[in-house]
Amino acid sequence: MTPASTAPAEPRRPRGDGWTEIVSPLQGATMWTHITGVKASSSVDDVNGDGPTWHVGVTQRSASGATVRAGRTAMRLARWAFDMKEAEEDNHGPVRVLRSLWLPVDPARRKPCACKAETPEEVSEAGAPGDRDAYVWRVDRRGAS
Ligand SMILES: [Zn+2]
Repeated sequence: MTPASTAPAEPRRPRGDGWTEIVSPLQGATMWTHITGVKASSSVDDVNGDGPTWHVGVTQRSASGATVRAGRTAMRLARWAFDMKEAEEDNHGPVRVLRSLWLPVDPARRKPCACKAETPEEVSEAGAPGDRDAYVWRVDRRGAS
């Protein structure tokens, strides 16, 4: 029998009600929408050859239909649905909308990204009033999003 650890990791699929899989514009990623307006990509990325890492990228639809930074409730839902409670949030994308959760497949690699010590952070807000969350963004030096 092959140990589970040698099988290639698959993108995580959401649990719970209200999720619909949609066509993904991103190669290698699956894309999901939730009835509440949360949108999530799910993939396994290998950033800079550090090893396979589960990546869930979250946005949210505002009341006016625009794609905006996900608020506290949306992030809590995404962490739970994709089993990413242990994941680290690390945002490098140039558009500054996506909130990215990262969880190395290998538990021994689960430590804060080096950028957190090396790169100054920019802190602003995510989410609608009443659902505010901090949005921390760092200048991209790794090619991650
Ligand atoms: Zn980082």
